[in-house]
Amino acid sequence: MTHQKEMDRACGMWIEKETAPFRSTWQGQTYYFCSKPCKEQFDQNPERYMKGFEGRKP
Ligand SMILES: [Zn+2]
Repeated sequence: MTHQKEMDRACGMWIEKETAPFRSTWQGQTYYFCSKPCKEQFDQNPERYMKGFEGRKP
């Protein structure tokens, strides 16, 4: 089984869902972050972080 990876939208780093220390829910989707500043940046302006990351794969 492979670990499922999710992009930290704030810094662009790929992190594992299971070990992600911070997470945030926006529009029914959960997003994962490597650090508190990343989560806070995302929470302040989630829409900004949706752009440019659509369709990106690990
Ligand atoms: Zn980050």
